[in-house]
Amino acid sequence: MSVNPYPMVVPQNEVSFGRKIGVRILGDLFLTVDYSQCFKKPMKIYLAWCGSHRLYFLDYMHGRGRLNCPECLAKRLEMYKIKSIRLASAKPLHV
Ligand SMILES: [Zn+2]
Repeated sequence: MSVNPYPMVVPQNEVSFGRKIGVRILGDLFLTVDYSQCFKKPMKIYLAWCGSHRLYFLDYMHGRGRLNCPECLAKRLEMYKIKSIRLASAKPLHV
């Protein structure tokens, strides 16, 4: 199985005007189906907009219709990493 490239940022100039409007007004937009080896079965790919990072991205649905903005995801992973490091470096109380 090849590496899953999602979520993936889409440069603003590669998103059509109609889709920009659609995704901002209606929300996540079904775009295409990925038949590649990244997934066990064909996977629906959506175009989404992150208002915090002001970027368009492609992703597939995670769990209950959730799409992950790559920047938000990186931030969450970074926070998780920091927490893990803190836990790993924390000394037991009674030593
Ligand atoms: Zn974001």
